[in-house]
Amino acid sequence: MFAAVLDATSDAVLLTDRAGNIREVNPAFNKLTGFAPGALIGKDARELFRDLNDANFCDELWSDAPAPRHYVSVRSKHADGRAQVHGLSMTPIRDGSGTPTDFLAVILSDSFQADAASGETRRVGYDSLTGLPDRALLADRVGQTILNAKRANKSIALLVMGLDRFAVINDALGYAAGDQLLKEVAERLGKVIRSSDTAARLDGDKFAVMTPISAIDDSVIVAEKVLAAVRKPFHIKNEEVFVTFSIGIAIYPTDGEDFNDLLKDGLSAMQHAKSGGGAEYRFFASDMNTKARNRLDLEKRLRAALMNEEFVLFYQPKMDVLTNRVKGAEALIRWRDPKHGMIGPGEFIPIAEECGLIVDIGTWCLREACRQTKAWQDAGYAPIRMSVNVSAHQFKAKDLLDKVKNALTDSGLDPKWLELEITESMLMNDVEAAIARMQSVRDLGCGLSIDDFGTGYSSLSYLSRFPITTLKIDRAFVKDVQENQNTKEIARAIIGLSRGLNLEVVAEGAELLEHVQFLKDNGCDIIQGFFFSKPLEAKAFEAKLYRPA
Ligand code: C2E
Ligand code: MG
Ligand code: MG
Repeated sequence: MFAAVLDATSDAVLLTDRAGNIREVNPAFNKLTGFAPGALIGKDARELFRDLNDANFCDELWSDAPAPRHYVSVRSKHADGRAQVHGLSMTPIRDGSGTPTDFLAVILSDSFQADAASGETRRVGYDSLTGLPDRALLADRVGQTILNAKRANKSIALLVMGLDRFAVINDALGYAAGDQLLKEVAERLGKVIRSSDTAARLDGDKFAVMTPISAIDDSVIVAEKVLAAVRKPFHIKNEEVFVTFSIGIAIYPTDGEDFNDLLKDGLSAMQHAKSGGGAEYRFFASDMNTKARNRLDLEKRLRAALMNEEFVLFYQPKMDVLTNRVKGAEALIRWRDPKHGMIGPGEFIPIAEECGLIVDIGTWCLREACRQTKAWQDAGYAPIRMSVNVSAHQFKAKDLLDKVKNALTDSGLDPKWLELEITESMLMNDVEAAIARMQSVRDLGCGLSIDDFGTGYSSLSYLSRFPITTLKIDRAFVKDVQENQNTKEIARAIIGLSRGLNLEVVAEGAELLEHVQFLKDNGCDIIQGFFFSKPLEAKAFEAKLYRPA
């Protein structure tokens, strides 16, 4: 009866004696491994697994461990020489005294899952997009490697890596391109690691590399290799895409004793690297946990800040250098935190974007900027145009137009005095939809400006189709005009381009007289920057406004 059961099951079953010599295999096992019935009886079963798995794998399989053991990913030899990967569970069969007399290995046939849609078999333990081991398999491998490292008194580094600004790229180029990028990143990762390392995809834009190390410096070398691997641009959808990694490094045994602890520490270190601007690695240190908690805390405080009206708008003049008068202003948000003082947008806008709070904050900015602009007009100053930064979330939101309309109606501001600043990356995901949206903003009568122009991913061929009024030269191009000939040419080209397309051009970040002179000489007449003024509170800004006689 037992034999009939073995014959009938689709799981491959292998029975060995205590030493690992094969006593019995079932037909499913012959089918899986390609060996003829009877060919394996009496042979050493280790031969099927040797050299394909971790060095100690076979010793471990036939060891006197107390419980059955399950492996997500085991490699075994097929009769034709190739290696195949599958799950395996091993159960010692014990006599009355508890000593194992035989071993029963069951190869889990469901570890090859057919993907119904593509007809391809997907290997359990591997990420279907990139083909890299997945989190579960990584956990398994790290677990195994820790067992070995414990015996040998060795260390392991777990590098947890997240792509910086992946969401922006995804938004800009679309999800298919995002997937393509992840695949190519995975390929490059595969090339830089050694055979003793495991590269895995954790989820989304997060990857990990596990590497046995003999000194901490070894993990630095791996981290640098990973950073270098993505430094060269990727070519996706005919675009050059630049990405960077933020890497968090956790070390066994100092930072954690098991995979979960190491992963947690690695993630926390990665966040640390991200908040430092990305494109670098950080080691885990205990004070990082505190910082992570602070971030959650920040989210809570941001919500409260909106309720408690702790946000303020500062205004930075845009000077018309021909008349030397303030032609416009950019509204720049600040957070007057009762505990920590004034906090700049760089510190909270990204978090507000992530937690969705940006939409409400953005609405507040729009309303406040319109109100203030109208108030200055009513006070008798020559009208100026007010620019308000709009985030990706806001721009995509269905009710953007309603919110703009309401801000205008409620303040009584003529739409021609309001301009929205958007960035290139918001436009490239679905270009047609973006154009329609831009047009509807224009139809309201508002201006529309592309901020930080030259740093995003937009293609010049689209530019002529965008119904915009203004290009803002990113301050990176202004900053370097003195030292760098190339930057100079780019700044000149952007000015020329705006002329050709009949757009207004505004330069930001002019700090020095030389910057202003260069811009002026090249036909850029509207300039914003510390040379003229820092962003100012409404009261101080008002002093700069012109009051006609
Ligand atoms: P942005 O829109 O490109 O704003 C220009 C930034 O450059 C401002 O920084 C401004 O203070 C700074 N800046 C101006 N002139 C100079 C200069 O001569 N030298 C240097 N080094 N910097 C100069 P800020 O106020 O810290 O704002 C940073 C970014 O935060 C803004 O970049 C914008 O992307 C975002 N932001 C600010 N306010 C808002 C807002 O109300 N809503 C949204 N969604 N984003 C905002
Ligand atoms: Mg701006
Ligand atoms: Mg800008």
